[in-house]
Amino acid sequence: MAIGIQTAAYLFASILFILSLGSLSSQESAKRGVFYGIIGMAIAIIATVLGEGVAGQVYILVAIAIASVIGLMLARKVEMTSMPQLVAILHSFVGLAAVLVGFGSYMDPHTQSLQGAAHSIHLVEVFIGIFIGAITFTGSIIAWGKLEGKVRSKALMYPGRHAVNIILLLVCIVLGVLFAQQEGTGGLLYLYIMTAIASFIGVMLVMAIGGGDMPVVVSMLNSYSGWAASAAGFMLGNDLLIVTGALVGSSGAILSIHMCHAMNRSFFSVILGGFGNAPKGEAKAIEGEVTSLNHEEVAALLKEAKSIVIVPGYGMAVAKAQYPIYDMVQTLQKAGKKVRFAIHPVAGRLPGHMNVLLAEANVPYDIVLEMDEINEDMPNTDVVMVIGANDVVNPSAQDDPASSIYGMPVIEVWKAEKVIIMKRSMSAGYSGEDNPLFYKPNSEMLYGDAKVSVEKILGYLKA
Ligand code: NDP
Repeated sequence: MAIGIQTAAYLFASILFILSLGSLSSQESAKRGVFYGIIGMAIAIIATVLGEGVAGQVYILVAIAIASVIGLMLARKVEMTSMPQLVAILHSFVGLAAVLVGFGSYMDPHTQSLQGAAHSIHLVEVFIGIFIGAITFTGSIIAWGKLEGKVRSKALMYPGRHAVNIILLLVCIVLGVLFAQQEGTGGLLYLYIMTAIASFIGVMLVMAIGGGDMPVVVSMLNSYSGWAASAAGFMLGNDLLIVTGALVGSSGAILSIHMCHAMNRSFFSVILGGFGNAPKGEAKAIEGEVTSLNHEEVAALLKEAKSIVIVPGYGMAVAKAQYPIYDMVQTLQKAGKKVRFAIHPVAGRLPGHMNVLLAEANVPYDIVLEMDEINEDMPNTDVVMVIGANDVVNPSAQDDPASSIYGMPVIEVWKAEKVIIMKRSMSAGYSGEDNPLFYKPNSEMLYGDAKVSVEKILGYLKA
């Protein structure tokens, strides 16, 4: 394929990627956005594989075919609740790819023959590309472990960790200067040491983030993976990879800033591994007694209520309870009740997780409200049903500085007349923090799987 045609194809693919990102910003146009993305990526792959100077297309096609089969199998198998883990592990691949491209590009005889400024710029690209790639690689693996429950979700904080990170960063800068002064492939040793240090920094940065702040880490690693891809684009001299990486990097950074805003966290504190965010003092003792109701009693409460708010969380996703919940909502609406959903920005395990599940069950958007919209109406609400949510309704976020989620805005369900918390046990949410809501005098537990419970309540409502 001639260079001119390839450049035109790259430009067209870039436009499709931008349209794709733009369309993904609203539920109505999201499907179209995915479609633009697929077409753009297909054009990008074809233009690259058929590009000038690319040999061994057969091997590339075989590799693409094998990877596509693995990708298809994974995508079919993965549960909606495991999506964040999949995203995290895919980010790690981008990081690893940037590291491998960096080493390959450094040892490539063609780039070895570069002279003067071009040579120096190439070395800087290699060093920074491998640095970002290694942090993304190990950071994403730890994020995967935390989301999968293989690594404990509580923040690992040891004294002096920020000083250690800064010293390691300075060591990497010194290594970079030494690396740039070497002839031929003489800088390999410096690259190896820097890769080991950057990999360690990646682990420590994500280990230091508590469960409650994980949404920001996932979107931040998304951003890092974009910058790593962009760096790989510079090393390979591929304009499209530079543009695509920059799009992913900047959109991930914007999402991280929005998430930090929603969680009342400082962006820099989170990207620096929880800098200045350590919980203060002893945890507040929880007072009160836990009481519970059965399904029939909950149905009776709902029959009496005029205004009902449902707060879904991760447990609704696990139980796949969104369908019977919408059935229950329609039954209550027919009986003249005002029923609305309250969505916390980090409920579930993905940004927008609850919105996606409710849309899947055909819940109309006009009864799905954001946290800020519903909070002021809580005192006028008769019954709140907390279905599989925990951290997003934890009052410690407002009144216990020792809690790791202190400062995060939460849905103030305890201000309603009655709160019913539907979950299987008294266990903590993702942040690992106990929830004093369960002990409040106006709270009642309803134990059991969310879907089973909702179906039973629905049975009593219809009876
Ligand atoms: P939580 O993780 O705080 O709580 C979920 C609750 O659901 C658990 O306490 C569990 O209790 C219950 N549960 C699990 N399975 C079932 C079931 N089958 N039926 C009924 N209940 C069930 O979820 P929230 O949505 O309240 O909060 C999300 C948390 O995840 C926040 O800390 C957030 O920061 C974090 N996070 C969010 C991400 C995002 O992008 N949205 C990404 C990564 C992390 P029990 O075991 O007793 O049933």
